[in-house]
Amino acid sequence: MSTQLLIQTGKTDRPREPADHRQLPLLRHFALAGLVSILLAGLVLGILYQHFATEQLIRSEQRHNVQLTHLLAGVILPAYGDYLHSLADGSGDLIRSQERTAQLHRLILEQIRDTPIIKLKIFSPKGLTVYSTDLSQIGLDKSAYPGFLRATRGETVSQMSYRDRFYAHANEVELANRNLLSSYVPIYDAGGRLSAVFELYNDISELSGEIGLVRIQLTTATIVVMLLLYSALFLLVKRADRIIKAQSLLQTAHAGQIRHQADHDPLTGLPNRRYFRDLLGQSMTRAHENDHLIAVLFIDLDRFKPINDSLGHQAGDRLLKVIAERLTACCRDSDIVARLGGDEFTIILDRVDHVRHIERCAQRVIDTVSRPIHLDDKELSVGASVGISIYPFDDLDIDELIKHADTAMYHAKDSGRNRYAYYSEEMNAEAHLRLELERDLRTALREGQFEVHYQPRFDLALQRVTGVEALLRWQHPDKGMMPPSTFIPLAEETGLIIPLGQWVLQTACRDIAALNTLRADPLNVSINVSARQFEQDDFIDGLREFLHGAEMAATHIELELTESLLMRTDRDSSDNLSRLKAMGLRLSLDDFGTGYSSLNYIKRLPLDTLKIDRSFIRDAGSNARDAALVAAISGMARNLGMRLVAEGVETEEQMRLVNTHRCDEVQGYLISRPLPLDALKTFLAKENGASLTG
Ligand code: C2E
Ligand code: CA
Ligand code: CA
Repeated sequence: MSTQLLIQTGKTDRPREPADHRQLPLLRHFALAGLVSILLAGLVLGILYQHFATEQLIRSEQRHNVQLTHLLAGVILPAYGDYLHSLADGSGDLIRSQERTAQLHRLILEQIRDTPIIKLKIFSPKGLTVYSTDLSQIGLDKSAYPGFLRATRGETVSQMSYRDRFYAHANEVELANRNLLSSYVPIYDAGGRLSAVFELYNDISELSGEIGLVRIQLTTATIVVMLLLYSALFLLVKRADRIIKAQSLLQTAHAGQIRHQADHDPLTGLPNRRYFRDLLGQSMTRAHENDHLIAVLFIDLDRFKPINDSLGHQAGDRLLKVIAERLTACCRDSDIVARLGGDEFTIILDRVDHVRHIERCAQRVIDTVSRPIHLDDKELSVGASVGISIYPFDDLDIDELIKHADTAMYHAKDSGRNRYAYYSEEMNAEAHLRLELERDLRTALREGQFEVHYQPRFDLALQRVTGVEALLRWQHPDKGMMPPSTFIPLAEETGLIIPLGQWVLQTACRDIAALNTLRADPLNVSINVSARQFEQDDFIDGLREFLHGAEMAATHIELELTESLLMRTDRDSSDNLSRLKAMGLRLSLDDFGTGYSSLNYIKRLPLDTLKIDRSFIRDAGSNARDAALVAAISGMARNLGMRLVAEGVETEEQMRLVNTHRCDEVQGYLISRPLPLDALKTFLAKENGASLTG
């Protein structure tokens, strides 16, 4: 359910704060933390066990040692106590050499034979080793040993140590890898005075080995039990994780669904009035920022009410759905179709470049709505009246913009339905005019309403006319002579400039070639080329073909290009210009100074002529800055080896100015206005006569 709704919103859903899909990786965290803690727990448990068990072992073995010591002392001291006492200051060798020592040694070995004691030492209260089962150690001074010192203070001190090699029982037995416990035990006489300190070595390897084994078993058992527990928990957490994920997905979907329901018309799935207002606001902001137009089309269905009344609401609903689908299909992806309610729809046309685009869309809407609709083998037909408001031409406010389109829709209905209308009368009129002009323009070429006029170009060095510029004129049947500025932009927009430009080229070349047959010095002819023509893929090939059969040599033809044209097609214009040059044509840069005037750029292009725009010439007399610019342009043109033409020279003063700035040619009303061919012939004949007579 939710997925379907979500898909429908695709095109128009406004971007919302993204739902937080980043879930805590619960499972991974749990798995890792679980394993680590199990290992740690096993390890810690093992260490603790070892620690306490060893402590316990030492305590019990020490008790054992103390008992044994007292037993031994009970046997030894009554017989040898005085003897040992007498040895208090003797040297090791002396003691060893005594027969009593040998007797004592034998006695002790006998006593400890079947005990865990593997070594025994006896120290005098002053720390002299008076006896040791290892006889070589007799005589060593132990008075500074911490164990001994503590024993003299009445403590029994035990210490566990590991020995990889140890000689037991008077060096008769060699032991390897043993854990030993040594205890210092103080022995007191009846009077309570310290009579000796015994040191016993006890082999506890077996017991401590058992502890180690138990530790391993304990650790292993712990880890195994915990792993089992862990696995169970893992499964539990995994399940919980799945449930949480599913729930959050459901929540997101649910939120999306609720949002969608709040924003969309349930019948058609299109944005509703509230959401449409939001979207329009966003579009307006974007249009404002990016400086483009947007249009609101307000669409009201004609003849919907009678269908709804006669066939019932269900049929009406189905019809509205069909219309909604058709409207969506006839728009671009960036446009927004909405239903305001009833049989009212709106469309936002985003990023509009030309008013023409709006009209084409409006017409498409009307056409698509008017197509017959089949419902249960009935063929129904409705129409559409479309009102148009354009931002930012119309009011800046969202509701005003919608209201204007609504009002315009009523105009359209009033003026006969199934049509579109703009909000304002002026806009209506302007749109009509443009449409009319476009229609007229299409027939004009067919019906021969165009003419080419020629404006002479006067060479200042030769002091005579050496060429003409071909300028297009439209003799409109109702409106009279139309200047190019009124129709060239439209011709460019509609693409009509391409056949029209072709026609100018053919006509001008034919006219001037015919004229040249009567002249000693052939005239050059300049032809204006528009960007749209220049951008045509086959522009150069077409020109080459034309030149092939033309009566006019390419060297007498000059193409006038504008800076903006060259900048627009920057990437390959340099190439294209070289190809044109290779065909023998001359190239000039028209209206120089009105565009980017990038000298660096111009330097790279194979241009022959620079035509200073007439605005500079007009103001150069009064404006020092313009005069300086003319001087600079003139200097630059000479440096680059280009001819310089001054356009729009109307007065003698301007003529003097261009003379001082050493322009090569002059064009302007002072010499002559653009003339029809016959008038040009007369002008040239007069000029010729003047120069002949003058
Ligand atoms: P443009 O190429 O700069 O043509 C010169 C314009 O200056 C012409 O206007 C001409 O009548 C005008 N003019 C010449 N001398 C003077 C003068 O002394 N004072 C004043 N005030 N104006 C002068 P026009 O014929 O109205 O042409 C306007 C523009 O239309 C042309 O500007 C050119 O860009 C375009 N155009 C004309 N014919 C064609 C054509 O066949 N093809 C293309 N693509 N564009 C053309
Ligand atoms: Ca020109
Ligand atoms: Ca010009």
